Amino acid sequence: MLYEGLRPMVGETGVRPRREGSRLVGMSQHILTAVAWPYANGPRHIGHVSGFGVPSDVFSRYQRMAGNKVLMVSGTDEHGTPIQVQADNEGVTARQLADRYNRVIAEDLTALGLSYDLFTRTTTKNHYAVAQEIFLGLHKNGYIFPKTTMGAVSPSTGRTLPDRYIEGTCPICGYDGARGDQCDNCGNQLDPIDLINPRSRINGETPAFVETEHFMLDLPAFADALGTYLQSKQGEWRPNVLKFSLNLLGDLQPRAITRDLDWGVPIPLDGWSDRSDKRLYVWFDAVIGYLSASIEWARRSGDPDAWRQWWQNPDARGYYFMGKDNIVFHSEIWPAMLLGYNGQGARGGTPGPLGKLALPSEVVSSEFLTMEGRKFSSSRQVVIYVRDFLERYSADALRYYIAVAGPENQDTDFTWSEFVNRNNGELVAAWGNLVNRSISMAARNFGAIPEAVHLTDADRALLERSRTAFTAVGGELQRSRFKNAVTEAFDVVREANKYLAEQEPWKIKDDPGRQGSILHVALQIVDDVKTLLTPFVPTSSNKIFEMLGGEGVWSGMPEIREVDEDGGPSYPVITGEYDGAAKWEHRPIKAGVPLAPPTPLFAKLDNKVVDEELSRLES
Ligand SMILES: [Zn+2]
Repeated sequence: MLYEGLRPMVGETGVRPRREGSRLVGMSQHILTAVAWPYANGPRHIGHVSGFGVPSDVFSRYQRMAGNKVLMVSGTDEHGTPIQVQADNEGVTARQLADRYNRVIAEDLTALGLSYDLFTRTTTKNHYAVAQEIFLGLHKNGYIFPKTTMGAVSPSTGRTLPDRYIEGTCPICGYDGARGDQCDNCGNQLDPIDLINPRSRINGETPAFVETEHFMLDLPAFADALGTYLQSKQGEWRPNVLKFSLNLLGDLQPRAITRDLDWGVPIPLDGWSDRSDKRLYVWFDAVIGYLSASIEWARRSGDPDAWRQWWQNPDARGYYFMGKDNIVFHSEIWPAMLLGYNGQGARGGTPGPLGKLALPSEVVSSEFLTMEGRKFSSSRQVVIYVRDFLERYSADALRYYIAVAGPENQDTDFTWSEFVNRNNGELVAAWGNLVNRSISMAARNFGAIPEAVHLTDADRALLERSRTAFTAVGGELQRSRFKNAVTEAFDVVREANKYLAEQEPWKIKDDPGRQGSILHVALQIVDDVKTLLTPFVPTSSNKIFEMLGGEGVWSGMPEIREVDEDGGPSYPVITGEYDGAAKWEHRPIKAGVPLAPPTPLFAKLDNKVVDEELSRLES
């Protein structure tokens, strides 16, 4: 039934090498990190990756270090009218457009160091099969029904004209630029058929309103089950997410899950599957991607049932990361689809062939990022794409900024001056300088990590402060409070700098024992903080691991591999081996490990950067 043609991704047998080490296998939990699927209609900008990308990676890296078994999946969302419209404008096929941006996005997310176990796409045979399976399960259990509605279509193409692609005069206030779904002047919700002089925003033609048959997802049949589910999340989810989701329950309506379009997943029912003018609606297939990507990952790993450990194991937990405009799909629609497939809505039913599937444990939503006080806009050049950013600045600099100053709890403005200030003041002057002077002084005077011959109260207090930070920072990361977590880690950095300023090891000329002890303490703090900061800035933490004599991989980085299905066209996926040495624990450094003079971890930015970047934005 389901598509079986995936070739293994790693090794000759496809068996993924697993390093268990001293890890207590029975203690580890299965954690699904389900990351929102970027839409493949263009490159992603830093607002996008601050919403879904960096927070989900920080979380996943921490969970792996804490000994849990993480499966982090996502991919590009490639169906839907906007991709078809843009492809038409550019004179290419929708598939060609999706191919282009799937690759661009995969490359950019890899460069940012996002540690996906699998980042794939929605145009795979596997995804089509899984999406159709979920549709059939919902249909069999009675949660999908057909309905004839009046819909707008483009007379020239016959395709559905989505509400927001129709423009006209508002029947309420007379505003001429009202959209089919809403008037931005008076704020009223509209139905496109009520617009006066409606016209297509794609090509200006007058839309035709015709009877068209579509399938509806019976959301009201899940009102009770969703209510029980959401109420059980009190005290766990961010309050804004829970409140928003509970409010939606008051007005659940059946939602159309098909469209008049030839670009998308065919409807898997007799009389429908061979029709070229009807497809599953893009949001319906995209949320199924979390499941289809997990299944694809398992097949490619050589154990086709491995995905069940994250989807059917009662001890597993699923964390979903997204921007706030996507909450409804993850706290209401996707849970309803899963409940229906499981046979747990008001009409009952039985689980489909995949078996009973787990609902999201937590929905972690970010707020919006603006750019220098304005909304991101590609058309008006109020934008910085990930690729352009990473050509000029390091991935760690961007990741750190997003963690410490990103839109975690409220809408937040990105400014170049704050980026430069934080990079220079925090990464370079505070953290980079602590690493640099500790290692260089020890290398110069001892050539190796010196011994701690005698510890003073001040030494012990700082070591204790750093050791206890593992619990504090880990607790914040466990709850996806990234800003608190990184701030707590930087408090240790500041205290270590204060300690060095007070102890002044560079002034000690005739007491190598004391000088060595101070530097030993400083290097231990560097090692601890390197671990604490690994989820945020893995590249620089990997360098510090090597500087202090570490061998092998500390925290694994993602890579792109070319894969295919049954020898069909190849496509890039992001994957990687992330079972490095990094553990969420204090590790005593070893005296005698040779040290070389360090190289700088972070680049100091000239203040001219601010003016240069601002001049790139249209004034
Ligand atoms: Zn109006």
